[in-house]
Amino acid sequence: MARSIGPKCRLCRREGVQLFLKGDRCDTVKCAVKKREKVPGMHEFRRMKHTDYGMKLREKQKVKRYYGLTERQFQRVFREAARRDGNTGETLLVLLERRLDNVAYLLGLASSRATARQMIAHGNINLNGKRMDIPSALVSVGDVVTPGKRESAKAAVKRSFEERARHVPAWLTRDDAALEGKVTGLPTRRDVPLEVNEQLIVEFCSL
Ligand code: SF4
Repeated sequence: MARSIGPKCRLCRREGVQLFLKGDRCDTVKCAVKKREKVPGMHEFRRMKHTDYGMKLREKQKVKRYYGLTERQFQRVFREAARRDGNTGETLLVLLERRLDNVAYLLGLASSRATARQMIAHGNINLNGKRMDIPSALVSVGDVVTPGKRESAKAAVKRSFEERARHVPAWLTRDDAALEGKVTGLPTRRDVPLEVNEQLIVEFCSL
């Protein structure tokens, strides 16, 4: 009998991509998406036939879940992306990639975006030496991300760095000894690993 999977993994299965919602487990062979890919003869992800509207909706939901946003938060970033020059879909993804909670996760300060968000909300992350408790704050080139001043925050980040020799994207650097991460550039669309058609999101949001 097939073993049931948790609600987070079920979301990934439904979208057909890894959304990295369960921390370190997502990088292991226990990942429900990877397991499904490995079963010989197993059908591809069972996908319902979507209407044009449904396909666009799915792409939007994928991005929302990947970054852990509410609809209201997503719409706010979309409006900001639409206001800026350039391709709205790409700008949307780049703005989301620059969120502090995402950066803290990518640097390995936390095991998942949700954990990073919680650490920030509890004041356990500093941005440029100052407590920053807004997970949606956008990082800029030269910004430095460190644990908060509490010893417990430093210990948590030290432990996290030890456990996560994570590959850090080219636009970030990490100094394990100093317990800090630095933003050395801005991400581009190519730095966003999520398989998503952002043009469909723009079309959905413009309906
Ligand atoms: Fe589960 Fe894999 Fe999705 Fe992580 S990436 S939540 S382990 S299915």
